[in-house]
Amino acid sequence: MEAMAVSTSVSPADEFDRNVPRICGVCGDKATGFHFNAMTCEGCKGFFRRSMKRKAMFTCPFSGSCTIPKDNRRHCQACRLKRCVEIGMMKEFILTDAEVQRKKDLILKRKEEESQREAQREALQPRLTEEQSRVITLLLEAHRKTYDDSYSDFQQFRPPVRLGPVTRSVTRASSLHSVQNLSSEDSSDSFNPPSDPMDSKLLNFSSLLMSQSSSSSDSSLTSQSISMLPHLADLVSYSIQKVIGFAKMVPGFKELTADDQIALLKSSAIEIIMLRSNQSFNLDDMSWTCGSQDFKYQVKDVEQAGHTMELLEPLVKFQVGLKKLCLHEEEHVLLMAICLLSPDRPAVQDRARIEAFQDRISDVLQAYIRARHPGGRLLYAKMIQKLADLRSLNEEHSKQYRSISFQPEHSMQLTPLVLEVFGNEVS
Ligand SMILES: [Zn+2]
Ligand SMILES: [Zn+2]
Repeated sequence: MEAMAVSTSVSPADEFDRNVPRICGVCGDKATGFHFNAMTCEGCKGFFRRSMKRKAMFTCPFSGSCTIPKDNRRHCQACRLKRCVEIGMMKEFILTDAEVQRKKDLILKRKEEESQREAQREALQPRLTEEQSRVITLLLEAHRKTYDDSYSDFQQFRPPVRLGPVTRSVTRASSLHSVQNLSSEDSSDSFNPPSDPMDSKLLNFSSLLMSQSSSSSDSSLTSQSISMLPHLADLVSYSIQKVIGFAKMVPGFKELTADDQIALLKSSAIEIIMLRSNQSFNLDDMSWTCGSQDFKYQVKDVEQAGHTMELLEPLVKFQVGLKKLCLHEEEHVLLMAICLLSPDRPAVQDRARIEAFQDRISDVLQAYIRARHPGGRLLYAKMIQKLADLRSLNEEHSKQYRSISFQPEHSMQLTPLVLEVFGNEVS
């Protein structure tokens, strides 16, 4: 008995051992597994249990050796029960009512614990609220409406003029390129600002600024090193318009006073342009690739617009670092919105309000990373660091912009919008 009891503690894996025929040892029907220590069908299992519980005593009306066929197993209860015992079924394996109850309770308890753990996992599983999802949808829409990744509008800019490698000696060496410079200046007058018109309420351009570009100055002083300036000035001008379009769709922005909207745009425009340009930045050749070869911008091209490595080196580093974060588009647009809604910009009035808007977007970004960016544990911190990097890039850009715009022959290449947003040093 003891030995059998041990052998009956069958694990489910053993039960489904392929060597055991899955046939009821009592009646030959299809067996459902080991019941009370023997392979039987459900019918014989129930019969054995009922018989044991009732302590039934059967007597065979025949010779005591009836066969038990599956379709007539009720024929003789005595011989059926005898057969049960013969194949090893034991009443010790039948649970008492109390044991059955205890087992049921245990199963129920396990189920409850499991569903509790499931609920806990659910609760811990970070998810975005409807409001947060709505903010993301709005920002994605705003970005897609204002960022055309076919870059087809670039055709409308004054054309890029690329000269040989820029060195100071070349810059001084010849006047050969002055013709080219003149021709690119000529075309500047024919440049039509891309359609999407500026909100005239937002930024009032004085006609004074407009007239400035026609009051031509000494173009003979124009150095070759700025051959790319007309094209890139148009590109930046175009980008500013797009950034304004984006800003107007950023939740909260339009609720600010016009003065605060202008203050935020003036100080963040270049940072947002640097951010959004990351979409075209190519790690393979460290260029901004905006469609065709003409619109593929390398560091040397930006140098030919009057900028120096003091800006360009950290700018490229920034682009590489940002690219390597592999941001989702959602994160990319949230970062631009956070950048725009920085309360600590000069000339801002309602800091508390802007901060509240920025906090809301930051919360959305953090929630998004938790819910949707596996392995993004440090991503938020890295993204915020990028905003700090942008501040120093902004500062260096302002410095270089001032020295470019201080020269009338350079500043005349800029567009009224650029002059308005970045400042006009020439008066
Ligand atoms: Zn059976
Ligand atoms: Zn019988």
